Amino acid sequence: MEKLKNKNMKNCIFCKIIKEEIPCYKIYEDDLVLAFLDINPIARGHTLIIPKEHKENIFEIDSIVLERIVSVAKKIAEKMKINGAEGVNLYHASGLSAEQTVFHFHLHVIPRTKGDGISFVSAGQAKAIEKTEFEEILSKLKID
Ligand code: AMP
Ligand code: ZN
Repeated sequence: MEKLKNKNMKNCIFCKIIKEEIPCYKIYEDDLVLAFLDINPIARGHTLIIPKEHKENIFEIDSIVLERIVSVAKKIAEKMKINGAEGVNLYHASGLSAEQTVFHFHLHVIPRTKGDGISFVSAGQAKAIEKTEFEEILSKLKID
């Protein structure tokens, strides 16, 4: 298992960026995280924030590191606002079903302006949920 993890890290494009084996447009770096421009941006300034230690997804990442990532996201969002963004999306995918494509945790920070043509709103069917169903979901997801 450990061997498999090392192998994944070896082939991980974001680990290669951290090790400076491949270049990036670096926005921010500290002891725990690195932020850089997305190579295939959906908006000008689209940024990724990643942990320096290889963690695949939200289930693996340490909460302290995740907190740092979120606080860096806020700082970057503020910079985006100063530079003309009217809004910002924070986007994250964990797992194939969630459409994750790079399996090293990353938080997208995406500057938005009115009429930019980007949409994260799913066109899925609005299905009415009964009160009992809400309560059943609640019993599964509620945190103590
Ligand atoms: P996701 O689909 O949420 O896993 O996002 C992966 C993101 O990584 C995509 O937006 C890619 O454009 C971005 N990406 C992949 N390779 C690189 C790279 N070498 N430098 C910067 N961004 C990258
Ligand atoms: Zn990695």
